[in-house]
This record gives sequence, C-alpha cells and structure tokens, in this order.
Amino acid sequence: VKYCRDLPKVELHAHLNTSFSPESLQALVQRKAATNKDCLDWKMTIEDFREMDHSFNVFKLIHKVVDDEEAVYQLTCAVIREFAADNVKYLELRSTPKDIPSTGMTRELYVQTMIRAIHDCQTENLDITVYLLLSIDRRNGVEIAQKTVDLAEKFSKQPDSVVVGIDFSGDPAVGDAADYIAVFQSAKQKGLKVAAHLAELANFRETLAVLRQAPPDRIGHGTFLHRYDPGQGHEEIEDIVLDKRIPIEACLTSNLKTKTVTTLSEHHFNFWFQKNHPVVICTDGKGVFTSTLSEEYAHAAGTFNFSKKDLWDLSLAAIDVIFAPDTVKQKLREQWKQAYPQVV
Ligand code: 5GP
Repeated sequence: VKYCRDLPKVELHAHLNTSFSPESLQALVQRKAATNKDCLDWKMTIEDFREMDHSFNVFKLIHKVVDDEEAVYQLTCAVIREFAADNVKYLELRSTPKDIPSTGMTRELYVQTMIRAIHDCQTENLDITVYLLLSIDRRNGVEIAQKTVDLAEKFSKQPDSVVVGIDFSGDPAVGDAADYIAVFQSAKQKGLKVAAHLAELANFRETLAVLRQAPPDRIGHGTFLHRYDPGQGHEEIEDIVLDKRIPIEACLTSNLKTKTVTTLSEHHFNFWFQKNHPVVICTDGKGVFTSTLSEEYAHAAGTFNFSKKDLWDLSLAAIDVIFAPDTVKQKLREQWKQAYPQVV
C-alpha cells in the first residue's frame, strides 16, 4: 500500500456525495445535528451500508445531510483535499445538481458552489488538478437530464471552466438508458464529454441501444459488457466497446460490496486488461465503499499479481483517457516523468 500511496494517480470515477471520509461525514452530520437529531441515526446507517438495494437508500440519507450551499462547499473542499493527500494528481469529480427549495438550493447554485470550492482549493497549493462532470440521475427523467446538459454547456463556456462533461448514473434498475440517447447526442453536439454508467446490471438491450446510437467517451463499471448469454445478439456490445476502444472505469471494491461481482479475481477489470483495452482503476465512492484509490491499486496488485511497474503503467495510461484538454495531459505526463525515479 505504501508504494500505491506514493504512486501519482488519476481518479476518474468519484461521486461527490459518496466520496466523504469518516471525518468529513462527521463534520457534516454534526453541523446538521444542531437542527435535526435524526442525523446521528442516518450516520450509523450510512456507515453500516451493505448492498446494492441498500446503497441507493444510503445515498438518500447522505443527500439529506448535504442539502445546502455550505454543505456542498464543505464536502467538495474536503473530498479534493482527501484525494490530494492520497497522491491523486488529477481528479474528475462528478455530482448530480439538485433543486432543494427548503434550503434555497438550485441546480445552478449547486454547480456554482462546487466550482467555487474547486477554485478555492486551487489557492491551497494542493498539487491536484480538478475537473467536474455534471451527473444525470436516471431516476429523474429525460427533461431534467436535458436541463443538466444545458447547464453543463453553459458552465463549460465560462473562462477557466472546470466543467468538461456529463455523467449518467442513478439506480440502474430504474428506467431505460435508451430513453436518454437524444440527451447524450445533444451533449456531444455541445462539445461535452460523456461518461455513462452502462451494463452495471445485465441490462443488455439498453446497453446495446446506447452503444449503437450514442457511444459514450467512457463507460462506468461495465460489469456485464462481456457477460451476455451467447446467441442472444448481444455479442455486438463487446465488439463496439473493443472497436471504439471505449475506456472502462473499473471500481473494484464498489462492485464487490454491491455484489455485482462475487470475487475480485473474477472482476471484469482483468478481462479488459488482458485484451489491452483501456481500463482505469477508480473508487466510485471512497466513503460508502471505505476504500481509497491507493487501496484500490493495492487490491488490483494483490489480485492480478501486478508488479510496481505494472501499477505505474496503469496510472500513467489513465492520463490518456481524462476529459481535460491535451495541455493538461502533457502537464500530467511531465509530472509522472519527474516522479518516476523517486517512486519506482
Ligand atoms: P451525487 O451525484 O449526489 O454527488 O452522488 C450520489 C449519486 O451518484 C447517487 O444518488 C447515484 O445517482 C449516483 N451513484 C453513486 N454511486 C453509484 C453507483 O455505483 N452506480 C450508479 N448507477 N449510480 C451511482
């Protein structure tokens, strides 16, 4: 783990509200507990979370704690500092903008607040570059999804913008990803990058429809991309992902804890890695899944027998698939080059 901590890293799949640390959660709960004692029970449930069904209930509790401008600001700053302390040099944070009338929160203010936190952290010399993806929650429907894309476009056009794209997430058992194809196409037309949670469950039909008509720039999880039953016409899923070299964000502990994979050795990370396909190790939610990015690299090393050099190559290759412009990629590669003699 020491080597994995020293390794400069890239984090591409981190949801704001599930990426708290015990300390940042405690601070947020304590703040809310002054007006709502139920917070203390929520905290226990959040810390005690077990599986997929439950995880989406847990997310709702976290959202009750992070429901106003100050909480969004505090959590964003805390998460950035925590990733920086774990030697993450580049972070793409994602979060679902929310309207919360009771606290005066609007989707636009939510994004502004996260951007303010990102800019303020830049003045702290943290040695981490942070960009932002606006998440679409598939439980909220197409109309809000399109509004999120429009919001992302608006913020992406501002000077020094940190908004580079959208994420498609939310409970994969709810709704149909194919309904969002026009939304993804609109995002692409507006010059936004698209990261989509796909094939997190065995929903092959929607996965194939999205891949055919609006292939994303990266796939979140992709647990079932290659786990189709033969002869059902789903082989095309794997072919499209391979042909287009769509990078996969692999979240080892997350998938284990939500029971979409049974053991780490069976994790689909290895399937794509063996094919020399771009695959990036990510945390998903280092708070709910209680695992840092360094620990995720260490799990990969232990499970797949990676050498120090293999881990180095993995973290370096992640730079190729970030959504920030090429100038940022160049800067990061230079940083890796300088760190190499000390780390490896
Ligand atoms: P937020 O967007 O509020 O910052 O982060 C929490 C949200 O991210 C959840 O409500 C959910 O929509 C999404 N999310 C977090 N983890 C997962 C996951 O493992 N799978 C999917 N599909 N969505 C997730």
